[in-house]
Amino acid sequence: MAEAQEILPHFIGGRWTPSSAKETVPVHNPARGQVIARTPLAPKSEVDAAVKAAAAAFPGWSETPPVVRARTMFKFRQLLEEHFEEIARIVTTEHGKTLDEARGSLRRGVECVEVACGAPSMLMGYGLENVSSGIDCSVMRQPIGVCAAIAPFNFPAMVPLWFLPFAVVSGNTFILKPSEQVPLSQKRMFELLEKCDLPPGVVNLVHGGKEVVEALCDHPGIRAVSFVGSTPVARLVYQRATHAGKRVQALGGAKNFIIVMPDADFDRSIPIITESFYGCAGERCLAGSVLLPVGDAHKPTRDLLIESARSLKVGDGLEPGVTMGPVISAKHRERVLGYVDLGVKEGAKLALDGRPLKVQDRPEGFFVGPTVFDDVSPSMVIGNEEIFGPVAALRAVKNLDEAFKIMDAHPNANATSIFTSSGKAAREFAHRATASMVGVNIGVAAPMSYFPFGGARDSFFGDLKVHGRDAFQFYTDGKVTISRWF
Ligand code: NAD
Repeated sequence: MAEAQEILPHFIGGRWTPSSAKETVPVHNPARGQVIARTPLAPKSEVDAAVKAAAAAFPGWSETPPVVRARTMFKFRQLLEEHFEEIARIVTTEHGKTLDEARGSLRRGVECVEVACGAPSMLMGYGLENVSSGIDCSVMRQPIGVCAAIAPFNFPAMVPLWFLPFAVVSGNTFILKPSEQVPLSQKRMFELLEKCDLPPGVVNLVHGGKEVVEALCDHPGIRAVSFVGSTPVARLVYQRATHAGKRVQALGGAKNFIIVMPDADFDRSIPIITESFYGCAGERCLAGSVLLPVGDAHKPTRDLLIESARSLKVGDGLEPGVTMGPVISAKHRERVLGYVDLGVKEGAKLALDGRPLKVQDRPEGFFVGPTVFDDVSPSMVIGNEEIFGPVAALRAVKNLDEAFKIMDAHPNANATSIFTSSGKAAREFAHRATASMVGVNIGVAAPMSYFPFGGARDSFFGDLKVHGRDAFQFYTDGKVTISRWF
């Protein structure tokens, strides 16, 4: 764990390097409201140093056999297992989510490393003899160069692992810019990466904010940019980095709709739905945001959700028994509370009010209690904008068609779920849904690391998605060779 007020160093070219930044931002423990470190807002010149180091490492690393590259990730995986609890605790301390949630997200990250270890098989090309008489044709997947990734605050350990292992095993060199709000678990991971026999410059860590992001988008030495964050920034990054000629995948924000049919198994569904809305204090891009109960499902869904949300124990995620932690910052808390005030003004029915919540022994923490609104119309701001907090918006609908009308009119299309015991309704839902991650009796439809992850419309800008086979495609170019021998 970092010393209080420590200004975090970069990791460039195999060395821990202090930043010359004039400005820093505080990193908080959100459960206590304390400052635990400071993130430098690096100037452009420090991005340049990282690109130089990564570019210098590329020729040697790209020629290293895939099986040798994969071994470095086997070692990384082993170290992540050995330090699993330590890293999970850092995630809880810097982000606020409960220790169980931190463990779950880190497990997902470790699984990405495991999938990346399959690089020798996953990077195989293909070929055909005699495409014309005596002429053969083959495709070989080759690394593309220096790749960069920019991460959000809500999954400090996991999201960087959506990218780093795949980029590196594919033979690229890599620069990570973590969220300035949660940089500590990445510092620890890079200390572990130092022990993984990676040549200097293969992996680099640069701290910062907007200026670093813009420099990564513009730098002519970078071939590909991966971004995860809010929709407005995802759109900017996509436009700016593609304009500079780069390959880009930019994952944006979400407003996820959950449909409950009258034939749902309420006893089993409500705990799952509760977890979807309030897990990680609602700070998940796959969190349920709007609940659309169909017909007679309205009353039981609302009453049981309120009861279940009330039973959550809000507090410091490091404490046993706590089931919901704080939100990330005082500013974000104000933002979420502002949405609740607005919902009341807009005329939605506040069925459970999380605003008055106080957590004993943590008076400075950034807590918001679980909140439920009923009668939220799609034209209300709270029914439309991403709140990214523990606030559920209910809207009764007559049938599945009405639910689709509401969902399809929304610009985001990240994830959606249906709760039903009808195979017919589930099939129709999965077929018609325009979001790219669909759950059937699943609250958080998160694809595993061997499947692609990413949404549609304003939730995803790009083509190839995150992890799974798409990752190997994103991080390589398919070179075609056509040959004839006389
Ligand atoms: P954010 O957009 O504020 O920040 C993301 C990254 O962009 C950070 O590293 C930040 O330093 C940088 N950044 C912020 N403002 C910038 C600007 N104006 N110009 C350039 N760079 C800028 O997002 P956040 O608050 O850290 O994360 C929450 C958001 O991320 C939510 O909208 C959530 O839905 C989304 N998210 C999406 C997914 C997904 O898979 N689609 C996954 C996780 C989070």
